[in-house]
Amino acid sequence: MSETPNPRLCLCGCGATVNREFLPGHDAKLKGALINAALAGEALDASKAVKAAGQQAAATLAARGWTAHLDKSRVSRGAKAARAAARSKAATPGGTTEAPEQGAQAEPPATD
Ligand SMILES: [Zn+2]
Repeated sequence: MSETPNPRLCLCGCGATVNREFLPGHDAKLKGALINAALAGEALDASKAVKAAGQQAAATLAARGWTAHLDKSRVSRGAKAARAAARSKAATPGGTTEAPEQGAQAEPPATD
């Protein structure tokens, strides 16, 4: 049996005609765009439309098995945002707990 070529547009939106879903490497472009949209939709100040688009993007990421990439980006961006927030504000709610700098008493070495 012969496969009939089924040219269509690259799903990343670049406008290239492809026989499969993407030009080589363009799945990464779409992935990045979906991650951006999903994370934008998670912002507290996101509009309804942005949130809806974010949910759709997250669903697409999940359908393609890219949720791990979304989670990874969320963590790294969250860390970046937390650092920025820590700079402007002293305290970040639900963020880092203060590490004890000193006060932990050193135990005397056991003698034989
Ligand atoms: Zn493309």
